[in-house]
Amino acid sequence: MPQDTTNVNLNTKAIAANTYDAIVVGSGISGGWAAKELCDHGLKTLVLERGRDVKHIKDYPTANKNPWELRHRGNITGDTKKNNPLISRAAGYSEDTQHFFIEDKDHPYVQEKPFDWIRGYQVGGKSLTWGRACQRWSDYEFTGPKRFGYGFDWPIRYADVAPWYSHVEKFIGVCGNKDGIEAMPDGEFLPPFDLNCVEEHLKQSFLKNYGNRYLVHARWAHLTKPNDIHLQQGRGKCQARNLCMRGCPFGGYFSSNSATLPWAEKTGNLTIRPHSVVHSIIYDEKKGKVTGVRIIDANTKATVEYFAKIIFLNASALNTNLVLLNSVSTRFPNGLGNDSGILGHYVCFHNYRGWMSGIIDGFEDGYVYGRNPTDAIIANYRNLKSQDTDFVGGFTTFAGAYRQRGNPEQCPESIGAKYKEAMTEAGPWHVYAYLQGETIPKEKNHVRLSKDEKDQWGIPLLVTSVGYDDNDEKLLKDFFIQTEEMLSKAEVKNIEHYDSKQAPGLDIHEMGGCRMGADAKTSMLNQWNQVHSCKNVFVTDGACMTSTGNQSPSILYMTLTARAATHAYEELKKMNL
Ligand SMILES: Cc1cc2nc3c(=O)[nH]c(=O)nc-3n(C[C@H](O)[C@H](O)[C@H](O)COP(=O)(O)OP(=O)(O)OC[C@H]3O[C@@H](n4cnc5c(N)ncnc54)[C@H](O)[C@@H]3O)c2cc1C
Repeated sequence: MPQDTTNVNLNTKAIAANTYDAIVVGSGISGGWAAKELCDHGLKTLVLERGRDVKHIKDYPTANKNPWELRHRGNITGDTKKNNPLISRAAGYSEDTQHFFIEDKDHPYVQEKPFDWIRGYQVGGKSLTWGRACQRWSDYEFTGPKRFGYGFDWPIRYADVAPWYSHVEKFIGVCGNKDGIEAMPDGEFLPPFDLNCVEEHLKQSFLKNYGNRYLVHARWAHLTKPNDIHLQQGRGKCQARNLCMRGCPFGGYFSSNSATLPWAEKTGNLTIRPHSVVHSIIYDEKKGKVTGVRIIDANTKATVEYFAKIIFLNASALNTNLVLLNSVSTRFPNGLGNDSGILGHYVCFHNYRGWMSGIIDGFEDGYVYGRNPTDAIIANYRNLKSQDTDFVGGFTTFAGAYRQRGNPEQCPESIGAKYKEAMTEAGPWHVYAYLQGETIPKEKNHVRLSKDEKDQWGIPLLVTSVGYDDNDEKLLKDFFIQTEEMLSKAEVKNIEHYDSKQAPGLDIHEMGGCRMGADAKTSMLNQWNQVHSCKNVFVTDGACMTSTGNQSPSILYMTLTARAATHAYEELKKMNL
């Protein structure tokens, strides 16, 4: 397949038919945002998506099913597990959601070290199944790697993204409480889900015992009280069904399918082409610039080229690395824009190995009515102003409490009439906490293209070579020690901790490989997410991350995407691209 296009002997009519102002690769969380912003700016935008189309509501086949209407009551079968050992480990993967995840056999890759690469290939990507946690980064995270010498400096700070966070939050709808915590800045919140009585107790206990450890309401992308902008999107109030990952017919949580893509479609500027596996970016040697992208039609396997003035890469972190590495030309023999040689390196993730649980006595007169699709958050309290531990980076803790159905002490049976009767009574209160820890980007943690293995579309397989390090072990240990102490002081008993020892990747927060930075010699992207040496190519998914911070990352991808799309539009107006 030719890697360079010279525009000689080409059918100009066909080129015109395949030419747009902008091309977006991928239609997930970040691609949906690129499409929305570019279309809002009046640019004719083509979204290329490798998976099938998924229309809001119509294509949520399990959304309204009762447990007894699912053949296995929601459980996955032994066969499914056997045939999909990797993807079936993903959070939220079950009988009612599995159609929004890939099948292992269709999408192989090479694990040089164990790495669980969790993917959802369809219009909407992982926005359909994501967990929806949406905390803002603080300057502690943007400046941490430089201040404590464990990473590369970001070319931006919190002040650069704060207005864009607001822009995104207002549109997607994020519930939460304004808590005034420096390590986790407040946003444009809708009313929060309530803390229950035990969570309120934990919050007070942490404050009393530590002064600076804050358990706060979830900051989650749910419409607890829709504003006009949400009603304009055709979305309604979250019904707290907690069946989100099936796709929400109310549009109660944010997904590309319910919000950004239909919004972009309404402008009349959007074209979505599903079943389009982007193979590579086209670099025109004569023009000295990128002119389009090359796809393989997923069904016919035909190669088609599309052209545009600007390209947004939003295929999710590792796929964006793959596309760039596969885009070779005389000018860029090692991958598009890879003058620095760092493309594919400094891949990082979140440490999700730590889980804790316990039981708390009392609160028998407290009960929770209805469901809550969110978790409370303990904001990071480690290594903020100074490094106060034997590791670098910080961690967010998600935590909560729930009341068990039935009391196992009074009814040890787990089947039969007595058990059914017992299940109608409220049992003891359980407390849980889990870790989302920062990891250090390292050169040796990388992805590259396989030299000899290809997928069914003739694209080289990705090789993942990403592992934990000593810092991850120390951070995990500290999480266990601190959380146990905090829970003990709050009179939680029977505290247990559990190291899942899961492979990196299962956190589903893979990042990096194409980092932002001020210096083109040591980074791929500038402060506007433009490839340093190909200014009309923008990378705004997790590939752009210079470090991982400890907050959930997706809202930052959306924020950087909205910011970059507006910059792209402004530059286009000035004829700079
Ligand atoms: C169960 C679960 C829970 C999660 N919880 C949270 C959370 O609480 N908070 C949070 O911040 N994040 C969470 N995440 C992570 C979040 O889903 C991702 O960070 C986010 O979806 C990344 O957005 P994206 O646009 O980069 O990728 P995606 O949303 O994955 O979209 C990428 C799209 O690109 C398409 N694509 C890939 N390769 C190509 C190609 N070559 N050509 C054309 N199209 C291509 C894919 O099919 C896909 O549609 C969770 C994820 C899961 C699965």
